[in-house]
Amino acid sequence: MTALACARITYKLHRHAAVFCGQGVRWASLLRQEGYINGQWVQAMSGKDFKVTNPANGKTIASVPDMDERDTQVAIDAAYAAFTSWQATTAKERSALLRRWYDLVEANKEDLAILLTQEAGKPLSESQGELNYGSSFLEWYAEEAKRIYGEVGQSQSKSKEIIFIRQPIGVASLISPWNFPNALVTRKAGAALASGCTCVIKPAEDTPLSALAVVDLAHQAGFPPGVINVVTASRTNTPGVGKLLCTSPKVAGISFTGSTAVGKLLYEQCASGIKRIGLELGGNAAFIVFDSADIKTAVEGLMVAKFRNAGQACISANRVLVQDGIYSKFVEAVKAAVGTELEVGDGLEKGVNQGPLINDSQLKRLERIVGESVAAGAEVVMGGGGHKLGGLFYQPTILSGVTQDMVCFKEEIFGPVVAITRFKTEDEAVAIANATECGLANYFYSRDISQAWRVARKLESGMVGINEGLISAAEVAFGGIKQSGIGREGSRHGIDDYTYIKYLCFGGVN
Ligand code: NAD
Repeated sequence: MTALACARITYKLHRHAAVFCGQGVRWASLLRQEGYINGQWVQAMSGKDFKVTNPANGKTIASVPDMDERDTQVAIDAAYAAFTSWQATTAKERSALLRRWYDLVEANKEDLAILLTQEAGKPLSESQGELNYGSSFLEWYAEEAKRIYGEVGQSQSKSKEIIFIRQPIGVASLISPWNFPNALVTRKAGAALASGCTCVIKPAEDTPLSALAVVDLAHQAGFPPGVINVVTASRTNTPGVGKLLCTSPKVAGISFTGSTAVGKLLYEQCASGIKRIGLELGGNAAFIVFDSADIKTAVEGLMVAKFRNAGQACISANRVLVQDGIYSKFVEAVKAAVGTELEVGDGLEKGVNQGPLINDSQLKRLERIVGESVAAGAEVVMGGGGHKLGGLFYQPTILSGVTQDMVCFKEEIFGPVVAITRFKTEDEAVAIANATECGLANYFYSRDISQAWRVARKLESGMVGINEGLISAAEVAFGGIKQSGIGREGSRHGIDDYTYIKYLCFGGVN
């Protein structure tokens, strides 16, 4: 690194440390403002950077390099070179490094949570929750690395023995979104590294700092140069960077979490090289409350499934379907909960449990969805627009009388808006829930065990919460069907995307 680059970094760190130390926090030491390639913290070759802002107040937190294809190629080359020795490590060695990474994240999680709230806007308690969730993937994959097994098949011939072993695919490109900027990096990188893959991470433009901070801890844990790389890029450079991450002959596969539109584009880009691909895309979860439900439990579940991260989660309850017999009671109970339990504000302030939306385009999107739905006849029970705090804050909102032709029913809302629809029969609820191209998660509440089993089998989604609104964990196979994605993350199945089965045939056996 040149003296000039060093001086620039030192200046930047001091500048920002001064800002944040004023807030009584010590997380500036985790504030990295460079990309990470081949074990080095580096600027973009172009010398350009872009700003990261706090959605709660619009202030600039930091600047990170605006990398392009040239930087990305260097990162891919580094990952490709490192794969030769990394794939030859023992599972125990990889496990020990992942465990050390986990220990460092655990030791620094309070600071990481503050950083996360600053760039993503979510309340501090949720950031702390995300850190627990995020580090649990490192712990899980430290353990899972040692349990990647092969098989011995039964040969038809006495002179042959047949064996299947699992091998790492090679370099994995990992592209993550802004809504879980820590956990979706560790979820992907943990599985890739445990499998023996090396990786190039491309975090979202709005939230690169959490990714850089957690990778800083990986660096401290001692991962060899080139095994993990991070390329940061603005919205302008992202398409070019993304294309190279899909098409480079040195990349074996890609794992992407984000919108269905971008997922489709990456899928296409991967086709020419027949790359392995894992996609976690958008959802349109139904949250069904049957007459047989316990209303209190259902409302508690809805508050979590809807208002976590101000509704900006792919598994957010998007379409709340309530049966005729309890409809009015349920709407009243949701109204009471939303009216008393939610405190909107800057996520670092005490007591706040709903932060701002991530950026202006998400706010405009939400305003359009609510505006068009109300114009089409949805009734505003509560909220319905921007919060008095202004900026990117939006009121917790309840819409009732929502019908299937309304935009809030068809599109992913991705905001703090409960959209409620009435239904009469179980078959009708299942049909409505399945009338979408998405198939990520669904939820339903029922105390009738036969109904629970029936409905769980019929819902078309990769995941179903039954009397439960919080379904994410490192141990679970997370993923969707239909246009919500391909593959699973977490659980032992998370290893599948990063390994391939090699069949060995031993002939001439006497
Ligand atoms: P997005 O698709 O715009 O961005 C996600 C990531 O893709 C970011 O890193 C972005 O920089 C990158 N990206 C954008 N255009 C690209 C391109 N042309 N080539 C390569 N990379 C590109 O999505 P978002 O707005 O960040 O996130 C919101 C969406 O993500 C929602 O639809 C949500 O449901 C979905 N999501 C899904 C999951 C899941 O696990 N299924 C989790 C979180 C978010």
